[in-house]
Amino acid sequence: MSGRVAGKVEGPDYRVFPGSPVRLAEIDPNETEGYTRKKEVLPELESLRKRIRRLHEKLYAENKRGLLIVLQAMDTGGKDGTIKHVFTEVNPQGCRVSSFKAPSAEERNHDFLWRYHKSAPAVGRIGIFNRSHYEDVLVVRVKNLVPEEVWRPRYRMIRDFEWTLTHNRISVLKFYLHISKDEQKRRLQSRLDDPDKRWKFSKNDLAERERWDSYQEAFEEAINETSTEHAPWHVVPANKKWYRNLVVARAIAGALERLDPKFPPAEEGLDSVVIPD
Ligand code: AMP
Ligand code: MG
Repeated sequence: MSGRVAGKVEGPDYRVFPGSPVRLAEIDPNETEGYTRKKEVLPELESLRKRIRRLHEKLYAENKRGLLIVLQAMDTGGKDGTIKHVFTEVNPQGCRVSSFKAPSAEERNHDFLWRYHKSAPAVGRIGIFNRSHYEDVLVVRVKNLVPEEVWRPRYRMIRDFEWTLTHNRISVLKFYLHISKDEQKRRLQSRLDDPDKRWKFSKNDLAERERWDSYQEAFEEAINETSTEHAPWHVVPANKKWYRNLVVARAIAGALERLDPKFPPAEEGLDSVVIPD
């Protein structure tokens, strides 16, 4: 299953196809394709990182198409870790991570998509959304921050927004990092136990954890309502961090390969150029 064949990115397809809704409870967060150890997948991950770097260099040089990567997950689901481990090789010039917290007063005075659209990548760039416009149908729904008449129509606005980006040369790839409730407990515990991780722990995470089922329901509906041909969701088994990184890296390398960016042609007559002393 693993490995690389003639430029193809191998591995199971975790995409969600329109018309084939997923049930999150039926997707195993522990799936690893039979791999048992991180070191078994590291060579493939290393080679995927290099391919992503190379393809990104071409995307940047070509300056004609861009890529938006959306990362969503339950708390501790691994959004930060995925960014750190998948984009290790990517040139920071031409790549930007945008992390979204609760909106500011100014942001709340605009349509909900305003702040996301402003952060969307230009051509030649990769943009990574660490949380995204999906929060406005997730946390907002689960915590009743606005009534259903307000959040429900957002599915359509989100589909239209992503369609707009896609038709303006920005491809959209979306990842839901799927962990189990007991894995979240382990990760919260390790944030408490490890002095270097304590800064990430918020007591509010416990209140959010109590809403686990409501979040799962909200994620499931959001994924099913907004998985389109042009902007697919991937439901990534994410209990094993190394497998999650592998799956996300494969999907990104695959998407970049389908874009097939090319270095622009050099100026004519460069063969006869002599650099003066
Ligand atoms: P963290 O990612 O741990 O730094 O937390 C960011 C917090 O911002 C989370 O508790 C999110 O639920 C919250 N957040 C992000 N986007 C929104 C939004 N659109 N509306 C309300 N809360 C949000
Ligand atoms: Mg947090």
